[in-house]
Amino acid sequence: MQYRFCPQCGAPLEVLPLSGRERHACVQQECGFVHWNNPLPVLAAVVEYQDKLLLARNAAWPETMFALVTGFLERDEPPELGVARELKEETNLDTESVSLIGVYEFMRKNELIIAYHVKATGTVALSEELADYKLVAPEDVRVWSAGTGFAVADWLAARGYPVRFFDRQTGADIPDPRRPHDFSLVGGSLQYRW
Ligand SMILES: [Zn+2]
Repeated sequence: MQYRFCPQCGAPLEVLPLSGRERHACVQQECGFVHWNNPLPVLAAVVEYQDKLLLARNAAWPETMFALVTGFLERDEPPELGVARELKEETNLDTESVSLIGVYEFMRKNELIIAYHVKATGTVALSEELADYKLVAPEDVRVWSAGTGFAVADWLAARGYPVRFFDRQTGADIPDPRRPHDFSLVGGSLQYRW
C-alpha cells in the first residue's frame, strides 16, 4: 500500500528521512501525517483435525496449491479468537484449543504472520473463499518455503516429525532455506536490503 497524497489533508506526500528510513510524509503545517507502512498482522492456523493437518486451497489459487487457513485480525479482537473465527468462517470447524507456534515475516506482502496451532472439531463446510481442502498426516506434509510454511515446519519439528521443504515452482525437495538472523544489522541503518 502506497499513498501519493496525504489521506488527512490531501496534499502531495514527500519522501523524508524519518526514524532511520525514508518515509512518505506530509509537510503541510499542522498536519504531520507520516505513512509508516508497518506490516499488517495476519492470523494463520495450523489446523489439527481428525489427527491430520487440514490444508486449504483458495479459490484463486492453482489446483495443486494448498496452504493454511489465514485471515486478518479485526479491530478489538484477541488474536486467539480471531484465528478461531477465521477457521469457523472458512471451514465451519469449531476450535477446541489454540496455542501460539510463532511469528513469521512475510515481507513480500508487507504482512506479519501470527501462526497458531488450532485443534478443531466439527464438520467441514467450505466458504466461497476456499475451493478445496485436504487432510494430510503430519509425517506426509511437505513444507513450502515462505511465510506460513515456516510455521508448519516449526510445528512439525517440535513434535519430532520430518521437515521436508519443497520448491513450489518445481516441486523438488529443497533444504530448509532459513538462515540465522544477522543481528549486526540492528542499530545501524534501518534500510535493510532484501
Ligand atoms: Zn497532510
